[in-house]
Amino acid sequence: MQNKHTQKNCKLSIIIPVYNEEANLLLLYDQLVAVIKRLDISTEMLFINDGSRDASLEKIVQLSKQDERIKYINFSRNFGHQIALTAGFDHVIGERIVVIDADMQDPPSLIYDLYKKMDEGFEVVYAKRKKRLGESRFRLWITGLFYRMLAKISTIQIPLDTGDYRIVSRKIVDLLHQMPEQSKYYRGQIAWLGFRQTYVEFERQERNAGESGYSYINLIKLALNGITGFTDFPLRIVSISGFFVSGVAFIVLFYALITRLISDKIIIEGWASTIVSVLFIGGIQLIGIGIIGEYISRINQNTRTRPLYIIEDSNINHGAAIRK
Ligand code: UDP
Ligand code: MG
Repeated sequence: MQNKHTQKNCKLSIIIPVYNEEANLLLLYDQLVAVIKRLDISTEMLFINDGSRDASLEKIVQLSKQDERIKYINFSRNFGHQIALTAGFDHVIGERIVVIDADMQDPPSLIYDLYKKMDEGFEVVYAKRKKRLGESRFRLWITGLFYRMLAKISTIQIPLDTGDYRIVSRKIVDLLHQMPEQSKYYRGQIAWLGFRQTYVEFERQERNAGESGYSYINLIKLALNGITGFTDFPLRIVSISGFFVSGVAFIVLFYALITRLISDKIIIEGWASTIVSVLFIGGIQLIGIGIIGEYISRINQNTRTRPLYIIEDSNINHGAAIRK
């Protein structure tokens, strides 16, 4: 597939997922053009309109009429950020590929540094956040905790304080095509691939306009994709807690028997302890089933092998545009 894609001599592809970003697109475009000019290389900008409800699509189409470096894919509905990136990776033709948010939180001027750093022989250069403006403390704390936990319980080390803003080589994108899982978690998948990876630092800005499309529910879904995709640790915890609870039950049973034998009490009092232990076991079982369910639901998704996204229209015409 890559041969068909690299038909033109395109040095750099920039993938921009877009969900309700009408107020950011012009500014973003201006800054992208500036950095491309500075790099002075042939570039394409691929906007993925992920079911925006505002005028994002109209803005993109208009830009594409003025500038032939602009490509777009318009999804039939909102499929989510990671799936928008999937469509991007499926359709870019460049030798190097940048992923950037449309809301100006990732400063486009940094693409210059990412590109130059790659010249030193890296396959992946992350943009690492020195500071993160405009995000709540709770969110920063909980995401930080998540990455540390994931690093502990899985074999992949996702660099702390990085998002999806990065540059990768064509080799990485081709390898990502060999990872067809439906529940995508690109930070994990790219870290899992290995090779020489490094980062450049930047200060993450506040969103220019509009609202974050990532609700806490979306963040939890993404986190669950990360966990189920890269470790079976939660399943092990379920079995370990099973052994633990059975152990406790055995001790209590022993205690009850002894008490019965050495004292004259026929009924050991304590309905409270009975209720508590029933609820406790019930809780543990439900959590266990829930965890197993998360894994099973991903098996289910993967066996359905549905297309990951549906393209309504696009201005890409290198033959692969409607591949999915
Ligand atoms: N995005 C998307 N689909 C979605 C949600 C977000 O394509 O369902 C895009 C969004 O337009 C932005 C990028 O993904 O370019 C990052 O999203 P956002 O800024 O909402 O996330 P945050 O920075 O708050 O984590
Ligand atoms: Mg953002």
